[in-house]
Amino acid sequence: GPADPVLATLRLSAGYGAAPVLENVEIAVRPGELVALLGANGAGKSTAMKAVSGLLRPVSGEIVLRDAPVSGLPAHRIARLGLALVPEGRQVFPELTVRDNIRLGASARAERPDAAAFAAELDVLLRRFPRLAERLSSRAGLLSGGEQQMLALARGLMAKPQILLLDEPSLGLAPAIINEVFDVLAELRAEGVTILLVDQMAALALTVADRAYVLESGRVVQAGSAADLAGDATLEAAYLGAR
Ligand code: ATP
Repeated sequence: GPADPVLATLRLSAGYGAAPVLENVEIAVRPGELVALLGANGAGKSTAMKAVSGLLRPVSGEIVLRDAPVSGLPAHRIARLGLALVPEGRQVFPELTVRDNIRLGASARAERPDAAAFAAELDVLLRRFPRLAERLSSRAGLLSGGEQQMLALARGLMAKPQILLLDEPSLGLAPAIINEVFDVLAELRAEGVTILLVDQMAALALTVADRAYVLESGRVVQAGSAADLAGDATLEAAYLGAR
């Protein structure tokens, strides 16, 4: 139904080789929600993002994307079903132009836009990222870190995903640029884009999130509304002061 989660994990366990990292993780993201996944370094946040997007095969448990079980499917199939990952470290193609990087976002779609449709969609997208508009023909490798993060977001949005996964969008950016990135996240949330966000900047993440989960040693130890978690003293001591 319409209120069913866009994405849910059921007793999801995953790791690398013999050592389990995630154990019985259960999270859900409903349509239009921005959900934050918080936790200290090494808690398993990136592992969760990789498992959900198909980059890491789960050991057990299920991942449900819009009512379809996707656990064990390769990443490109999961992408085709409507999940777009903006990976940690942006991972834009440095030798390609900004325009071609954005164009690649559309390749995950079941139906790719033709040239005219792409141009029209690019136009709309660039209103949100004016700095990219000025640099469409530049090689992506020449952009600043903040511009590359905006480019990675633009590429993710070009996929028209059912859910956007953002892994550490603030990583390595100057404070003023981090604020710009989070302003964009707040806009996307206001427009109803469904987002799962991982970020070390827990306090900042809670300012844009509807709800959050806290991971500790690969397990969900707390879950609640962003407002409740932001006011939680134990959480503040453990994570919100981080960085
Ligand atoms: P960070 O913010 O530091 O990335 P995180 O919460 O995203 O933290 P993960 O990157 O998911 O944490 O790491 C969880 C655990 O898995 C850590 O103990 C880490 O050392 C381990 N780990 C991560 N990637 C690998 C890998 N490719 N091979 C083996 N172990 C890994």
